[in-house]
Amino acid sequence: MPDTTNNPNRKTWLQVSKDSDFPIQNIPFGVFLTRDDIITIGTRIGDYAIDLGALHQLGYFEGIPLTDDIFLQDSLNDFISDGKKTWRLVRNRIGDIFDIENPALRDNENHRNIALFTLNEIEMQLPVQIGDYTDFYSSKEHATNVGTMFRGADNALMPNWLHIPVGYHGRSSSIIPTNIPIHRPQGQTMPENATTPVFGPSKLVDFELEMAFITTDANLLGEPIPIDEAEDYIFGMVLFNDWSARDIQKWEYVPLGPFLAKNFASSISPWIVTMDALLPFKVDNVQQDPEPLPYLKSDEKMNYDIHLEVDITPKDGEATTVTKSNFKYMYWTMAQQLAHHTINGCKVNSGDMMGSGTISGPTPDSYGSMLELTWRGEKPIQMKDGTERKFINDYDTVTIRGYCKNEQVRIGFGDVSTQLLPVFKK
Ligand code: MN
Repeated sequence: MPDTTNNPNRKTWLQVSKDSDFPIQNIPFGVFLTRDDIITIGTRIGDYAIDLGALHQLGYFEGIPLTDDIFLQDSLNDFISDGKKTWRLVRNRIGDIFDIENPALRDNENHRNIALFTLNEIEMQLPVQIGDYTDFYSSKEHATNVGTMFRGADNALMPNWLHIPVGYHGRSSSIIPTNIPIHRPQGQTMPENATTPVFGPSKLVDFELEMAFITTDANLLGEPIPIDEAEDYIFGMVLFNDWSARDIQKWEYVPLGPFLAKNFASSISPWIVTMDALLPFKVDNVQQDPEPLPYLKSDEKMNYDIHLEVDITPKDGEATTVTKSNFKYMYWTMAQQLAHHTINGCKVNSGDMMGSGTISGPTPDSYGSMLELTWRGEKPIQMKDGTERKFINDYDTVTIRGYCKNEQVRIGFGDVSTQLLPVFKK
């Protein structure tokens, strides 16, 4: 089943601005509430949200084996379970429906009124019910920077890091879509030179610039996923802000790793961009030395060129872009992460989410967290409004944007934007 949606010359009858993240070549998937308070699965072209449940009822997916209610659900899990062949058929069909030459929906005002929404008429929801969430630690620059700060330059990279895509099991209950404010967490920290911990609001709340991929049902318990098949089980990707409390993290992380410093919130962009849409942006993997063990080794290109940037916007203030990074800096690929995750037989389900880990580039203006950008607060960032930031202040909004771009087409993720509120009070 070839992909026909990525044809860069295809045009749509919908109005789409030239710099849109969502041209007809993208066709992401999401879940939204409509103006009538109905929840549905949809896609987006330009600034239109398209109700796939309505289009299916109107017969536009005829000939594709889909259950009647596949899009009339509050999550994409069942659709993702249908597998790659079905994702492609549906995405190709959506491309056809909105092709400038196709009059079927273009010239049917009644159907257009039923299926098309402007963005201010809808409210985006979490696109999947996330069963399990795993966070990796796969940027060498990030691991080196953090290791240097926490353990010194001589012990920056742990001996396992160049051999294993290191990760931990996170918590899915606190993964939220864009535009949901969160509260500053409180907890235990050990102040510098103190001998007993104190309790209070975290003073070092940080973002982590990450992306996450969403899997389909991939294997049976006990059955590893071979590396060269791993990408077939990845539905798509979102932007991912893995909020972190650095002072809580420093005190609690020994010996089992992150816990309360990481599980109070992680925010995602609401449109899942499919791996098919990202195909034109595959780039060479980062050269790995030492060579990984055979189950992690592949000659295929499995890395992606995705521009990433982060803004901090103070309350009623102007946005300051604090970093520009790129997904291509990842040392371990998603395929390696998934192959490693399942090599022991761990089962992966539809709707599982795997975070990349903070994506830091090689230069100090491409680091993926405030911890690194300000080097633990030693070098504050100058904001456009004249204030300084070491970490994230109350009422700041953190926004991550991401997009791929070549001479012919731009495929973007939109953004994930989250405001930090003061500590929760009853
Ligand atoms: Mn993380």
